[in-house]
Amino acid sequence: MSTQPTATFTAPAAADPGADGADAPERDVRFRSDVAVELVKSSAADADVLFAARVSTAGEKSLDEVGTDAERSAGLINYLMRDRHGSPFEHNQFTFYVSAPIFVFREFMRHRTFSYNEESGRYRRLEPVFYLPGPERKLVQEGKPGRYVFVDGSAEQHALVETATRRVCTEAYHAYLEMLEAGVAREVARGVLPVSIYSSMYATCNARALMHFLSLRTKREDSTFPSFPQREIEMVAERMEEHFARTMPLTHAAWNRNGRVAP
Ligand SMILES: Cc1cc2nc3c(=O)[nH]c(=O)nc-3n(C[C@H](O)[C@H](O)[C@H](O)COP(=O)(O)OP(=O)(O)OC[C@H]3O[C@@H](n4cnc5c(N)ncnc54)[C@H](O)[C@@H]3O)c2cc1C
Repeated sequence: MSTQPTATFTAPAAADPGADGADAPERDVRFRSDVAVELVKSSAADADVLFAARVSTAGEKSLDEVGTDAERSAGLINYLMRDRHGSPFEHNQFTFYVSAPIFVFREFMRHRTFSYNEESGRYRRLEPVFYLPGPERKLVQEGKPGRYVFVDGSAEQHALVETATRRVCTEAYHAYLEMLEAGVAREVARGVLPVSIYSSMYATCNARALMHFLSLRTKREDSTFPSFPQREIEMVAERMEEHFARTMPLTHAAWNRNGRVAP
């Protein structure tokens, strides 16, 4: 177990050439079926929960007690989680770099306890990269709102999704370039682009906010309050949860043990 607060920074993968919009635009439209999530900066460890909680009884000596008894530490974190003493889980920070379709960002930014900065469609030319559901993506929705079940599509439905998506995104991107080349402002020309175009952002949160986000944006039948998120934001959430589990293993385990309810 890590016992001391940590601070790390990793630069995200380099942006595509031409991302600043200064050179010749790329005309070939590309399609992706995945998302990218990197933990670019963090100051987070289970120890951050412990010193914050122990100030209640140990005052300024709480930092000295961090890491003295692993079993007791795990027990304290589990108690805080179970009884929903949430504030000790706020003394830490995660910054994620996320690359995903804009329709995922629409859902993501409903989470008001995160801080965001996203690439601008006014200050740079958007890259020709669009989301195309992969062959494993379930296509057909059945059941009632809030309780939908998704089932595999037929080969014909998959083929239709692919040809329609490729056709419309390609045409839309070429119309976007046509307007830029005619001198129309980026902020006006982008209006023709579908929400399946990729964007990128930094999203910063603490563990308490992250647990709340994950409880809503992952689908787990064993949760106390199961949620039914759209698959594409769940793909982002799953990658974020892997980073969370690695960075704060005791907190992650206690959250799972207590029904994935944010304290
Ligand atoms: C499966 C699913 C389906 C959804 N469908 C829709 C939909 O059809 N239409 C739609 O509009 N949205 C939809 N949403 C978005 C949803 O309504 C929430 O906006 C989103 O999940 C963020 O949740 P939150 O407000 O709890 O989170 P955050 O904004 O991260 O807030 C965290 C917590 O802080 C507190 N808080 C934050 N702001 C306030 C405030 N102003 N007042 C009081 N307390 C506050 C609350 O306790 C809140 O739970 C959906 C979400 C999910 C997961």
